[in-house]
Amino acid sequence: MSKFVYFFGKDVTDGKSSMKDLLGGKGANLAEMANLGVPVPPGFTITTEVCVLYLKENKYPEEVLRQEKEAIDKLEALNGKRLGDPEDPLLVSVRSGARVSMPGMMDTVLNLGLTDKSVIGLAKKVNDERFAYDCYRRFIAMFGDVVLGVEFRKFDSLIEDKKKELGVKSDTDLDSKALKELVERFKGVIKLEKGFEFPQDPKVQLQMAINAVFDSWNNQRAITYRKLNGIDDSWGTAVNVQTMVYGNRGNTSGTGVAFTRNPSTGEKKFFGEYLINAQGEDVVAGIRTPDFINTLGDKIPEAYAQLVDICQRLESHFTDMQDIEFTIQEGKLYMLQTRTGKRTAAAAVKIATDMVAEGLIDKETAVNRVKAEHIDLLLHPRIDPEAKLEVIAKGLPASPGAAVGKVVFTAEAAEEMAEIGEKTILVRTETSPEDIGGMAAAQGVLTVRGGMTSHAAVVGRGMGKPCVVGCGEISIDMKNAHFMVNGFTIKEHDFITIDGSIGSVIIGKVDLIDAEINYDLRKLLIWADEIRTLGVRTNADNPADAALARELGAEGIGLCRTEHMFFGEDRIPAVREMIMAEDEKTRKKALKRLLPMQKEDFIGIFRSMEGLPVTIRLLDPPLHEFLPDKEELDEKLRELETSGDCGKIDEVKKVIQRVVSLKELNPMLGHRGCRLGITYPEIYNMQVRAIMEAACELTAEGMEIVPEIMIPLVGLVKELSLSKEEVCKTAETVMAEKGMKIDYKVGTMIELPRATIVADQIAKEADFFSFGTNDLTQTTFGFSRDDVSKFVPIYQKAGILEHDPFAVLDQEGVGELMKIGIGKGRSVKPELKIGICGEHGGEPKSITFAHQIGIDYVSCSPYRVPIARLVAAQSTMEIRDAKNKRT
Ligand code: PEP
Ligand code: MG
Repeated sequence: MSKFVYFFGKDVTDGKSSMKDLLGGKGANLAEMANLGVPVPPGFTITTEVCVLYLKENKYPEEVLRQEKEAIDKLEALNGKRLGDPEDPLLVSVRSGARVSMPGMMDTVLNLGLTDKSVIGLAKKVNDERFAYDCYRRFIAMFGDVVLGVEFRKFDSLIEDKKKELGVKSDTDLDSKALKELVERFKGVIKLEKGFEFPQDPKVQLQMAINAVFDSWNNQRAITYRKLNGIDDSWGTAVNVQTMVYGNRGNTSGTGVAFTRNPSTGEKKFFGEYLINAQGEDVVAGIRTPDFINTLGDKIPEAYAQLVDICQRLESHFTDMQDIEFTIQEGKLYMLQTRTGKRTAAAAVKIATDMVAEGLIDKETAVNRVKAEHIDLLLHPRIDPEAKLEVIAKGLPASPGAAVGKVVFTAEAAEEMAEIGEKTILVRTETSPEDIGGMAAAQGVLTVRGGMTSHAAVVGRGMGKPCVVGCGEISIDMKNAHFMVNGFTIKEHDFITIDGSIGSVIIGKVDLIDAEINYDLRKLLIWADEIRTLGVRTNADNPADAALARELGAEGIGLCRTEHMFFGEDRIPAVREMIMAEDEKTRKKALKRLLPMQKEDFIGIFRSMEGLPVTIRLLDPPLHEFLPDKEELDEKLRELETSGDCGKIDEVKKVIQRVVSLKELNPMLGHRGCRLGITYPEIYNMQVRAIMEAACELTAEGMEIVPEIMIPLVGLVKELSLSKEEVCKTAETVMAEKGMKIDYKVGTMIELPRATIVADQIAKEADFFSFGTNDLTQTTFGFSRDDVSKFVPIYQKAGILEHDPFAVLDQEGVGELMKIGIGKGRSVKPELKIGICGEHGGEPKSITFAHQIGIDYVSCSPYRVPIARLVAAQSTMEIRDAKNKRT
C-alpha cells in the first residue's frame, strides 16, 4: 500500500533527506534533522504525490485521509495535547514545501487549531490572555486570506482603525481587550464576505488549510516563479503539518534565519538575523528591521551556543552551506528548517573552493556546485572606479553587482519598460512575491525596508539581480511618482545607479566595467580544466581579444572572422577601392595595399596565441557590406549637386552604381562565403598570402605558429576542393619564397544543411570541420538571422518555440543535422577534428549537447570562455557518469 503521510519527530521519523521528490525539500530535511537528533517540533508531511492526485481529481483517496488521521492521533499523543482541546489545545502550522525551494511563493497558515473555546484554554495554560488573542486574530486573518480568499487588507485596515481609535502606534500596544474585539470583527468580515461562520472545528480548519496549500501550487506567482526558474509544473508540493512553537513569548523567545556562511561573500562566518519576541514570518516579511545574529549570544546565550553548534553539524552533514530557520520559545531552541542556502555567484565560488580546502568536498563536487550563470554574473559589470559618483543614499548590500536604469515604482511598470527595451531600477517600500515578474524584468531592485534576508534580498540574490534593501532614508511618494532622499527628488524615469555590493544609491547613469576573475575562480577553473575532455577556444579577430581570451583560458582561436579586419578606418578606403575595381588588375593593386595590413593583424593574433591553433576564416560577407549605405550616398550626392562640386559628383555616382549592382535581395543567401572566393580568387589569395607570410616571419623568430585556414559557406564538395587548391597553391608559393615549411591545415565551416548531408564527401577534402551554427540555424529553419526579433519572441510566448534558436541550439533539428555531419565526416576520417564556432559555442545547454554528440571543441567570445570551461567539465562528468551507469 502506498505511504502518503510521513511522520517526523524524535525517535518516530519515517523520512530522510534523500526523499525530496516525495516529501519536498522542507519535509525531507525536517525528517533528516529529527534523525540527527536536532530539536525539531514534531509533525508530518503529506507527500507531493498526494498533491498531484488532489489537483487532478479535486478529492483525496480514502487511504490518504486514513493516514492523515493516524498522523494527527500520533501528533496529539506525542505532544500530550489535542487539537481543539478547550483546556490545552494543540496548535499547528501548515506549510508548503516543494522539491526545490520556492521562497514565499506558496501559502502558509500558522496557529491553526484556535477556536472560540480553545483560545480561552490557551490563555489559561500560558497565563497570558493577550498572547492567546494575538495568536487567534493572526490565525483568523491568515486563514481568511490564504484559505478563504478574503483580502488581507480587509483585516489590516481593521487593525489600523483600532489603533487610531485607541490612539496607539504599534500592534504591540493593543491590549487583550482590543485584540478580543478585533477577533470578533475579523470573524464578522469572514461571515460578510463568505456567507458562513469562521470554522470552529480544528479538524475542518486543518483539512481546509491543507487543501489551500496544495491549491497554492497553481497560484499565479508560483507559476511565474516556476517558469522563471525552470521548475516542472507537474511536481506538486508537499504539505508539512507541524506543532507550533512561539518566538513571541517574551524576552527569552525569538525567531530568526541564519546561514552557516555569508551568502553574499561566501566568508566562513555565521551569518543571520533575528527578532526577539516575534513570530516566524516577521523576519522574512521585513516588517521590523532585525538584529544581527552575533548579538543573540548576549541575549539568550545557551540557545545561541546550541544554535551555532547545530548549524555547524548541519553544514558538515549536508556538506554544503545551510540556510536555517529557528525559533526560541522561552529559552528552548527549535529548528524549523534547513536547506541548501542560495548564494551569490562570488559566494558560490568561494564556498566551493573553501570546502575543498577544508576537506569537506572534492574538486569534482566543487566544480559541479558552481553554475554557469554564476560565472556569467561574476563577469558582470561593476562601477568604474574612476567614475565620479554622487551617492544619495545608503542601504544594505543585499545582492552584489551594479545596475543602471530608469526609476519605476511598480513591478508592472518594470515589465512594461522591459518590453520596449528600457532598463529600469525597481524602487519599492518592500517587495512581495507578487513583484517577482517586475524584479526579473528590472536591472536592479532598491527597497526602503527589510533586512538581508527580506524577500527582496533573497529573491535578488537568487536571480543575481543587484539589490539594495533597507534604505530607510528614502521616502516614496507614489501619488506624485517620485522619491525623496537627503534633499534630492528623483522622479519616475530618472536614471539612478545602484551598487548591490556596498549598498549605495547613486544619482544618474554611471559607467560600468566588466569584472575580472579572482583567485578562487581561477582555482576552480583550473580544476575544471583538469576534468574536462572538451576543448575550449575563442572567437577573436584582433590581438587584444585574443590575448584576453587566452588569459581567460582559451586554448586557441576557433574562429577569426577576417572581415572584421576590413572595417578598420585605415582599411576601408583600400577595401572600397578593391570593390570598385572594374578589372582584375585594379583589384589586385588595391589588394596589394591591404596585404601588409592583414599581415600585421595576423602577426598580432599569432603572437597572442603562440603555440596554440588559430583558425582563420577567409572573407565571408557580401561585398556591398563594405560600401556606404545607398541612402547616405544619395544624400551626399544631393549635397554635392547643391554646392556645385562637380569633381566629386561623378565619383559618388560611380559608387552608387556599384552599390546598386551589388545589391542583393537575399544577401544572407547571396554572393558570400566561398562563392565570393571562387568568383574573385585574388581576395582569398591575398588573405592566404598574409596568413602564411605572418606565420613564416614568426616561425623564423622561433615561435610555434599553428595556422588553420577555414573556408566558409561550403555546400558542394567542389567549392571546397577548388578553394583548397587555390589556398594550397598560394601557401606553397609563400613558403617557397621564404624557404620555410609551415604545418598548416585547410578546413571548412559546416553551416549549410547540404554540407551536413554530404559531409562524407566534404571530409575527404577537409582537415577539420567547424559548425557555423548561426548560419546552420538560419538555413535549417529558414529564419533570417537579422529579422527574427519580429516573430521569435511571439513564438516563445505562444509556446511554439521554447528558446530563441539563435541563442540556444535547436537539438531536434539543427542538432540532428550536426549528428549527421559528424557521423558522415568521421565515416571517412575517424579522427576528423570537429568544432563549433557559432554563438551556441558559449551557451551552456548547447555546449553540453555539442559534447554529447562528439564535438572536440567549442569556440566562443572571450568573456564566455570561463563559462565554457566550467560547463565542459560538468558535461565531461555527466557523460562519464551516464556511461558508468550503463556498464
Ligand atoms: C556561423 O554561421 O555560425 C558563424 C560562426 O559564422 P558567421 O556568424 O560569421 O556567419
Ligand atoms: Mg556563418
